[in-house]
Amino acid sequence: MTTPHECGYHRRRGETGVSERDRVRRSDASVAAEDGVLVGDGIASPEEVEARAHEVLVDDSREDVRGSPFVSAYPPFERWSPEHTPAFERVLASPPGNEPLGLYAHVPFCEQRCAYCVYLSRAGARPAAVAAYVDGLLSEAQRLARAPFLAGRRLEFVYVGGGTPSVLAPEEIERLLAGLRRALPWAAGAEVSFECAPRSATPDRLRVLREEGVTRLSIGVQQLDDEVLGHSGRIHTVTDCLRALEAAQCAGFDIVNADLIAGLAGQTEGSFLAGLEELLEREPASVTVYPLEIPANTPLFRALERGAPPAPLPAPADRRRFVGLARDALRQAGYTPISAYTAVRDPIAGGFRYQHAQYQGADLIGLGASAFAYLGGVHHQNLVHPDRYLARIAAGALPLGRAYRLSPAERALRELVLQLKLGRCDLDALARRHGVDPRGLAGGALSRGERAGWWSEAEGVVEVSEAGLARIDRLLPALFVAEHRTPGGEAG
Ligand code: SF4
Repeated sequence: MTTPHECGYHRRRGETGVSERDRVRRSDASVAAEDGVLVGDGIASPEEVEARAHEVLVDDSREDVRGSPFVSAYPPFERWSPEHTPAFERVLASPPGNEPLGLYAHVPFCEQRCAYCVYLSRAGARPAAVAAYVDGLLSEAQRLARAPFLAGRRLEFVYVGGGTPSVLAPEEIERLLAGLRRALPWAAGAEVSFECAPRSATPDRLRVLREEGVTRLSIGVQQLDDEVLGHSGRIHTVTDCLRALEAAQCAGFDIVNADLIAGLAGQTEGSFLAGLEELLEREPASVTVYPLEIPANTPLFRALERGAPPAPLPAPADRRRFVGLARDALRQAGYTPISAYTAVRDPIAGGFRYQHAQYQGADLIGLGASAFAYLGGVHHQNLVHPDRYLARIAAGALPLGRAYRLSPAERALRELVLQLKLGRCDLDALARRHGVDPRGLAGGALSRGERAGWWSEAEGVVEVSEAGLARIDRLLPALFVAEHRTPGGEAG
């Protein structure tokens, strides 16, 4: 346990306000900016620059209090740009794709804002504003349904997230899910996930969710400790969580997932493990434990900058350690890890298709303000501001924000990066699929990671060790090509 001052964040940033990690990455980026890839600039050889970047990524003493950003896209979002949105439009106008297809819908409303939240969401929205937003989502779905690239295809996985979609009134949830399915039909047996805050798991909402085909309910428990929940600005209590879990399990969803966060303000190893134990007594089908990440534009980060966090905050290395302890406890309780952060009771029936399919290159439609899509090898993010998003929809246009078109080599590297989060990646299969061997771009970092014990490769398959999984989001930027490593570690 350390306080923000003990963890060395302020000390390391020094008078310039730039951390050592930032400095090395900026030096790295300056090399990349000149030549596009890692070549010497007179300061260091390519090997030295690579080695320095790698050292910074694995040396915990150089890490600042924000922790490692969760890598959910490659290249990182900062590399996407409005100039590339025509590439996304060209994909939509092209003949139907043949990858598995899924959908993400973003609902940017919450009961109350949490201290560490960086997602697009607002609290206290009026019913008319919520209804107008649902209208916008459905209009966007109907418009996309006319795109040749999506013609005749059925959704194999759907994820409604936010925000907190469960704060919608039951009739709005029904209108949203029924309308989405009419516009973009789901395949038989599709996985349909819905995020749910504990206090909104009411009988009428759960009934509507079941009737509208939701198969996987993900409950944002975060921690079973009222004091810790209070420090994070969470509005729910332990009692709310336990009631929600029981109600969801009784309602008959195929999978009830409980989301936990390791390393919240005021959390100790003891309180974290006690909460996990209490949760496991309820036997949820799936448990996901994320290490806390503190993006720079959050209330919690600003409180740390002022030296006034609501309670002592575990250092990033402690947060990762808690995740590792949770993995051990979950295994002992009979769960099987299916990724760095999720473990399930039944790995055959209880997987998480939304995540696995995306990591294997599936197409994804993104609906709603700020929503991300990945279609035909092009990343796209919708306009972020809800009013601008709705205005564009009302004008009959797509809410185009920023995009990035990946080359075949980048697609192979993207899938390598993402699949390592699942613990395993078949490099030869990726090379066959894309016609480009990802080792061409990431071979040096893979070799160094293997020497460090983070993973090992045999017969073309990389298996990530427990030590590697425990710090996977910290390691992955080492595999990025130089121009995609972003200053400050905002990698995704
Ligand atoms: S519930 Fe989730 S989306 Fe809403 S404010 Fe909290 S962390 Fe953000």
